[in-house]
Amino acid sequence: MEAQDESEREESGLGTVINVRKFFQSWDSEVTALSQPIPERKNNNVYIAGQMGIPTDLAEELSNVCSMDTLKCGDEPADKDDLLKMKGLPKDLDLTCVKYQERDLERRKMVDYKLFVINKMKYRVLDVVQVPQSLNEIAPDKNVPHPNVVLTVKVHRQRTKAAILPKGEVFLVLGTQPLTDLKDNIVCVKDDAVAGDFSDFPHVSNEGLTPAKHTYKSGMLFIENTFYNDMREADNRDYSEPILKWAKENDHESYPEFRKAKMEDTLFLDLNIQLGVPYLYQHQGNCEHVIIFTDLRLLHCDDPQDVTMYPFQLSETVTRRIICRSCMMDSAKWVVHDSQLTPESPCFMCHTCFTLLHYDQNGQKICNFQAYKYRQKTGPLNLCA
Ligand SMILES: [Zn+2]
Ligand SMILES: [Zn+2]
Repeated sequence: MEAQDESEREESGLGTVINVRKFFQSWDSEVTALSQPIPERKNNNVYIAGQMGIPTDLAEELSNVCSMDTLKCGDEPADKDDLLKMKGLPKDLDLTCVKYQERDLERRKMVDYKLFVINKMKYRVLDVVQVPQSLNEIAPDKNVPHPNVVLTVKVHRQRTKAAILPKGEVFLVLGTQPLTDLKDNIVCVKDDAVAGDFSDFPHVSNEGLTPAKHTYKSGMLFIENTFYNDMREADNRDYSEPILKWAKENDHESYPEFRKAKMEDTLFLDLNIQLGVPYLYQHQGNCEHVIIFTDLRLLHCDDPQDVTMYPFQLSETVTRRIICRSCMMDSAKWVVHDSQLTPESPCFMCHTCFTLLHYDQNGQKICNFQAYKYRQKTGPLNLCA
């Protein structure tokens, strides 16, 4: 049974460490070789019949039946660019599905259409529609370097004590991009927070306060026993240092050999990865996110061809608005820690409830607590919790 499991794992690629650059080189040369004209393939059907071990007339019949031409109907444009120019629905079709489509296109003109759809939706993850681009629309210096490799990576929200992995966003990244490109596109509420206890200054406006991501820029990825530290700024911290020190002091034969590298000097091509295996992204001290590579393939013509669009976000997760624990209506603006007046710690509160509960008429604190400003990113994808 175990041997069978092992062979199944090997067949599915699970447990196999893949070097992205080697994968790219081997598949790119394979695809290049296949795209070369081969003399025997002058008559394609004879070649296919030979490869499949079937008679030539059967190959010809299959070729006709499976031809791309059978997928077209009427005067449908053959070219992708012409297809993009098609606007409106055919007027002479009396189909229910066309009527529904017409009604939906009308609704899309609504200002808050996105919110309307999300409220109706059962699921809280939206796939981002990939708009096909014509190569003419892209500046020549912005074209994606070809050939290239594309990795699909899922970045989960910050880790909590819950046993279930939190939701997350999915990105497409290019092999030729540095790891820092992905790091800079990860959105986390800890990055937008303002560091420090503001319980003595409850009326300080948010304007002019620096978000934590502009003050604390350190970050680390841990992939296949290698720590990749963001050291772009001179005062960035090496998060791997205490871990490596601890591993050295508590040396154990089961520990693998840990390595470390700079995030900004490492391309995705330089990585060794396993598909489906959870890796770590850590920032803002102890904010941990699980990241998982779910796919690795060559770049193709249906991928975005503008290099500035990468990392390309493939899905967006609906964020629930955190509401005040007291009035249960307004958005939370404060996180209160260690207060004897709140039912829990930390406790999320709106500004009015927070000040009414914790300060007297002279604006003085009436008990000991710490209060941190809470700034949740708001937008059309945020819902009431
Ligand atoms: Zn985070
Ligand atoms: Zn409130």
